[in-house]
Amino acid sequence: MSASQRSLLRRVTGWLGGIQKRRLWRRGFRESLATDAWTEDDIRRHDDTRLVALVRDAATHIPFYRDLYNQAGVDAAAFRGVEDLASLPTIEKRDLVESGDRMVRPGVADLAVVRHTTGGSTGTIATMVSPRGLSSWESGCIYALWHRVGVARGDRMVVLRGALIDEGQSLFRREPGGRSLTVSTYHLNDDNVGAVVDLIDGFRPDWLHVYPSAVTLLANILRRTGRRLGVPVKGVLCGSEMVYAWQVDLFREVFGGIVYSHYGHGELGILGGWFKGRREFHFLPNHGYLELLDEAGRPVTEPGVVGEMTSTGYANTVMPLIRYRTADYGAWSDPGPCPDCGRSHARLAEIEGRIQEYLVLADGTRFPLTNINALHGMFFSYVYRFQFVQDAPGEAVLRFVPAVEMTPGRMEEIRQAFAYLGEMGLRLEFEPVERIDMTRTGKQRLVVRSEEVRP
Ligand SMILES: [Zn+2]
Repeated sequence: MSASQRSLLRRVTGWLGGIQKRRLWRRGFRESLATDAWTEDDIRRHDDTRLVALVRDAATHIPFYRDLYNQAGVDAAAFRGVEDLASLPTIEKRDLVESGDRMVRPGVADLAVVRHTTGGSTGTIATMVSPRGLSSWESGCIYALWHRVGVARGDRMVVLRGALIDEGQSLFRREPGGRSLTVSTYHLNDDNVGAVVDLIDGFRPDWLHVYPSAVTLLANILRRTGRRLGVPVKGVLCGSEMVYAWQVDLFREVFGGIVYSHYGHGELGILGGWFKGRREFHFLPNHGYLELLDEAGRPVTEPGVVGEMTSTGYANTVMPLIRYRTADYGAWSDPGPCPDCGRSHARLAEIEGRIQEYLVLADGTRFPLTNINALHGMFFSYVYRFQFVQDAPGEAVLRFVPAVEMTPGRMEEIRQAFAYLGEMGLRLEFEPVERIDMTRTGKQRLVVRSEEVRP
């Protein structure tokens, strides 16, 4: 083949790939919007059909599940769907790490799949294998969620993330299509915030699509310095990390517009988002099935009771994850259709965040970091980032990167602001540091163990 023929072939392949991606995107978008009209019965029928197909197929064709179900005495041929789901063993991240290869459908061509790593918040990195184009479908599903709050196709977006771009060589990257600009907040501080604001203003975004930790850094600096974006955005679309109530307030104050959040995870099992102002995650029934489990692995059905989010994704037929414990926690809303929007989707009143996002008090009680709102004003205005290091119950170190000079008076103010934790049984030390590293994916974890902190 000549060089020009090869070049033509590449162009045609790229062009066909583009068509396929757009087709899958539209499918995700349309399928997800269509579920808005589904009744509880429609959803149940859909779940039963998909679960039966998934479980029987996995038990027959995927080595990992064949062995797992054999050992557990599961008769996949008799599996009837939702009502039998609790009889199947659950799986977790460790299974992906140790047996991931055996979860992949044998005989699938390498060209037909995409490999990507997931890990981030739990610190354990696993490899997922999914059909080529699944991420386009997923992004169509996410757009369907955003569509509810007014995001239109073609809207301009600035994506703010904490990870480095081009290994730190660039502050920003224009995405193909010209509608999206990615900006890194990795090196953001009071001195260079002007350049970042100018960059955002110059792009004239309709929306900010953000990792909450990345935009928190920007928002704190803007609040402290009194600078604002020149053109107000329609809203801040959060993803990939949980959003605390204090962050919602902060983003509203600094950027104006609405604050919206969706929940998804790297394993692409389930996807849900808020509906307008209602901070309840509505989960897309076409995307996957969501369960909450207690510590003994029993289903949690009562509203308001926290359980581990456990997902069964419908879309990944190459490496299906059936009853995958996500290490994220949530609590059901009241049963029945949503009082605001009428949708019958499964709803979580709140997501408690990743498993590490709490401090352990001396008596073993977990103190979720959602409860630290009381002190946000002063403390957040003094720091760029912060992180708790905890190795033993009842004691922790609060590391922070100061944004202002740490005078003895300010240190004392910070101590006072956290004094209530001492009364609850947490001895806290304070340590100003020069930097706090992100996880590989650019997320910031709020509680870590000391061995995870680089010396
Ligand atoms: Zn609703």
